[in-house]
This record gives sequence, structure tokens and C-alpha cells, in this order.
Amino acid sequence: MTEHDLVVRNGTLVIPGIGRVAADVGILGDRIVTLGTSLSGKEVYDATGKVVLPGIFDPHVHIGNELSFEEEAESETRAAILGGVTTIGIFIRSLEDSYFQHLPAFRAAMDERAYVDSIFHPQIFTDQQIDEMPAYTRDYGIRSYKFYMSGMPGIVKSVGDDVLLRGFRQVASIGADVIACVHCETGALVARAREELQKNRPQGTLADWEDAHPADAEALAIRTAAYLAKIAGVHLYVVHVSSKQGIAAVKLARADGTALTAETITPFLGISSDDANGFLAKMVPPVRTPEHRAALWAAVRDGTLDTVGTDNTSRRRASKNPQGGLHGARPGHPSLGTHLPVLLHHGRLHDIPLERLVDMATRKPAQTYGLYPRKGTIAPGSDADLVIVDLDLEKVVEPSALRGMSDFSPFEGRLLRGWPVATIKGGRIVARDGDIVAPPSGRYLTRTAP
Ligand SMILES: [Zn+2]
Repeated sequence: MTEHDLVVRNGTLVIPGIGRVAADVGILGDRIVTLGTSLSGKEVYDATGKVVLPGIFDPHVHIGNELSFEEEAESETRAAILGGVTTIGIFIRSLEDSYFQHLPAFRAAMDERAYVDSIFHPQIFTDQQIDEMPAYTRDYGIRSYKFYMSGMPGIVKSVGDDVLLRGFRQVASIGADVIACVHCETGALVARAREELQKNRPQGTLADWEDAHPADAEALAIRTAAYLAKIAGVHLYVVHVSSKQGIAAVKLARADGTALTAETITPFLGISSDDANGFLAKMVPPVRTPEHRAALWAAVRDGTLDTVGTDNTSRRRASKNPQGGLHGARPGHPSLGTHLPVLLHHGRLHDIPLERLVDMATRKPAQTYGLYPRKGTIAPGSDADLVIVDLDLEKVVEPSALRGMSDFSPFEGRLLRGWPVATIKGGRIVARDGDIVAPPSGRYLTRTAP
């Protein structure tokens, strides 16, 4: 009988595509090797009364918007691993330069300082970057690229439909599995709406921010991107779907035969625009009315939405500047540490089966980004990345306990039910009862054609 290095004993496994299984998990080195009963190991974690999930895969993360990439590679992945997240997809950014100038440093940071494994989705802005995509894929195993149809003043540029089509064709030429991720909002509609809001409503509430980013601008952009993706023959991944109209546009595009994967994020599932935390929840696209939020939950239930991420963009309260109000508060907030509890808490309130939530947060992103079954399941041969969850544990969100660089959370003060009690990454218990108990062991993951 195998003597395992680590055994997770007596838990209820939630295995995407299979369901709940009462079994022990036997780990040797950094891999799962056995599922069974009465397994023995040098170290045993007793998961009696808990559920054991595959490590959470957050496909939508921004790192280094406030501190350096290197610093946030450590601080924000520390918050991630405490929250049960073991793999992240990072939207790396270079507005002008070739990514060859930045990839070595980004990769080194994730290899040397991160608590979680990572993949990169470079944000594409220039013709040179489009020309170099096949080389990024060859040298760094990158198989997903990101395009912004609507930028953010001072942060990100918008790209026009010409760049989008040229970029899509390049993505498709690299391989059928390579993904075009798109921030879908029609830039001109957003720019006009934002200008008018500034003029007509210099002061306002979080709810007013939605007027700067009309839901119809999202829906129109999804239809445009889907049309271009179809003629380019590329797999389209719509990031952070936020609205009822956006959901309808996703359905139309699929009915029209577009290969499309749709993502939403836990801030949209957990926060409405009437939230008491106000501008702490300001982001782009915006959190919307309860009606939109209900439409997102319906799309979680009926399978229209495939994956769930965070759009984590950590800031400190001083630079977030919530007192700056409707136009002065900056978009973005930390959401890695609350990702899983928000999903579990609100998923339960909306009566969504746990299996469905776990699938969206683990297997679906792993499949989409070419890492399944290494990630996204609990099976012999898979990486030993697991999160052990107490579904009944209730905690009030306290920013300092999340252990990222931020001193606020858009969920602060909120009582959430369902928290991780331990996270195993690469066969080692790294987080336990809210504390980090092992050094970082994350790696940048290169991907290969299937
Ligand atoms: Zn984002």
C-alpha cells in the first residue's frame, strides 16, 4: 500500500462532472495519486464534515496596478491562496512596448514570489504586438490574448474593430485552442455616456456610475466581437459579462454559431449598485441594479455563463479615493480573498447547486485555458491543488484578515457563510485557518497545443 506524503481524510469531494464523493485523497509529491478509503500518509488532514474542492482557478486577475508587479505577485497571491484560489490568469499590460521587454520579469516574479500558479493573457494594443503573438506563444506558452473594445482613461487604450479583426485572425492562425479574450463595451458609446454624466451629474452615488457604462454598450460590443470572431474563426471569451442585455447578446451569438465562452465575476454576483459600501465597489464595467444581478444568477443557473473570476485590481483606500465621489473615486478593488466565500454564500441564497458553482470556478476555466485535467479536478495524476471548505463557517469580511495589500474590500462588513479552512497547493498545506503556513511555491505555467 502506498505511503502518501499527505492524505486528506474523511472529506466530501466535489468533483466537477462527477459530483460528490466520500473519499480520502492521497498525495505523493505535488500530485494526487489515489482516491480511496482509509488511506495512510506521513501527514493527515482531517476533513470530517468539510467539502474538498479542486483548487479555485480565477481566470481574470490584474496584478501590479498599484504597487509593482513583483510586490503584488506576492501580496495578492497571498490573499488568493488564503481564499482557496490556487491558479490565476493574469492580464499583463504593455501599452506600447513589445512584450519581449516585459515577459522575462513578469515570469520571474510569478516563479519566485507567487503563492499560486499562473498563466498570462497579454493585452494587445499595437500592430507589432499582433505580429509577435506567434513568438509569444512559442517562447512563453501563451495561448490566450486580450483585447479592449473600450479602454479606461489614463489606464488602458481602446482598440478599433480593425485591430480586433486583425488580432482575431492572428490568434486563429496560431491554433484552434488559442483564445481571444475581449472586454466588450463599445468605446464610443461609453466615452459619450461618461462625458454626459460628468456634465449633468458632477456628484452622485454608485448607482449613477452605471450610466457611464450603459448595458447596451456591452451588448452591442458582444455582438460586434462575436461577428468578427465568427469570420476570423476564433474562439471568443467574453470577460466580465455584467448585464441582462449582455446575457441576451451571448445567447444570440451562440445561436448564430459563434464559439463563445462567457465569464462573469463575483463582484457582479455579490454586489448591487445600491450597496452600502458605495464607491468602494466602483469598477469598470460597473456593478449594476438588482435586476441585472438577478439576470446573471439566472445565467449561472441555466448554463449561459461558463466561468467565474474576479477582475481583481487591488488598490489602497487612499488611492481608491472613495470620498472623491462619482467621478473622483478610482475603479478597481481587491476581490481574490473573497472570491470563493462570495460565490458560496450567494450561490446558496440563489439555490444554485454547489456542483455547478464549483464547475464554473475550477473545471471550466481549466478547460478553456488548456490546463485540464492537470487543474480543475480531483483525480489521480492531477496537481495536488485542493481547497477544504467549511460550508457553515460564517465570518464578517475584515480587510486586514484577507492579507493582500489593500486596506479595504468592497465586501467589508459583510457576513458571508462558507469559507476555506485550508488550501493545499502542489501537495503542501499552504494556508490553514486563515494563516499562511508555508512559503510561496507558485509557478508560471507554459501551455502547449492539445
Ligand atoms: Zn479585468
